Amino acid sequence: MRRVIIAGNWKMNKNISESMELANSIKRALYDILEIEIVLCPPFTSLSDVKEIVMDTNIMLGAQDVYWEKEGAFTGEVSAPMLKNIGCEYCIVGHSERRQFFHETNETVNRKARALLKEGISPIVCVGERLEDRKAGSTFAVVKDHVENSLAGITRDEIPKVVIAYEPVWAIGTGLNATRQEAQEVHKYIRGCLSAMHDEEIANLVRIQYGGSVKPENIKELISEPDVDGALVGGASLKADSFVQIARNCIG
Ligand code: PEP
Repeated sequence: MRRVIIAGNWKMNKNISESMELANSIKRALYDILEIEIVLCPPFTSLSDVKEIVMDTNIMLGAQDVYWEKEGAFTGEVSAPMLKNIGCEYCIVGHSERRQFFHETNETVNRKARALLKEGISPIVCVGERLEDRKAGSTFAVVKDHVENSLAGITRDEIPKVVIAYEPVWAIGTGLNATRQEAQEVHKYIRGCLSAMHDEEIANLVRIQYGGSVKPENIKELISEPDVDGALVGGASLKADSFVQIARNCIG
C-alpha cells in the first residue's frame, strides 16, 4: 500500500516568525496523525526553525529547490548535503514556476533529483502540462517527456524514494482544479510510464501526488482515485486551518 503524502509548498511566503507560527499550529493539530505523511516546505530561510518545531514528530521537512553540485563557487545556491544537514527529508524539484521563471529544464530537474537521492533526500518531482498543451491534445506527450527525462538514470532501487507531483499548470493558483477523472487519467498514465521505464512492481510503489488548487472541499474525491496518492498544496497550505483540514480529510 502506498502511504498518502500531503505536502505544503509555502513558496516565497512567510518570514521566520510567521513560519514558526504556522508550523506550530500544524504540529498541534497533526502531530498524532500516523496514517498519512505530512511534509512542510518553507522557504530556505525558515527551514532550520521549522525543523526545530517538527523534530520528533511525524511531520517531515522539505525544501523547494536545490543545486546539484555538492559545494563550491555557485553563488546563491544551496546543495543537497546542506539540505541533509539541516534535516530535510524531501525537496521539490521542477515546479512549474521554476520551469517558467528560472529556466528549469528536464535536464536540470534530473541533475537535482539525482543529487538529492545521493544524500537520501526524496525528490518531489513536478510534472504537468500547460493550458495550451492540454488544448492541443498533447497532455500525455508533455507528461511523458517530463517523467522520462526528469527521472532518466535513476535506478530501480532509487525510484520508490521519488515522489511525482502531477501539477497541471492551468490548475496552479487559479482555483481551477482538475476533476478526479482528469487527475486519475494522467496519474495512471504516469504509472504506466514508470512501468515502461522499469517494471510494474516498482511503478506500483511510487507515490503520485496531485497539485493544483487543492482545498479541503476537493481533496476527498481526488484522493479516492486509485492512482492519486496525495497532494502538493500551494495556497491552501499557507493557513493552518485549510492545510490541517486537507490532511484530516485524507484519513478514514
Ligand atoms: C503549487 O504551487 O504547487 C500548487 C499546487 O499551488 P496551488 O495549490 O495554490 O494551486
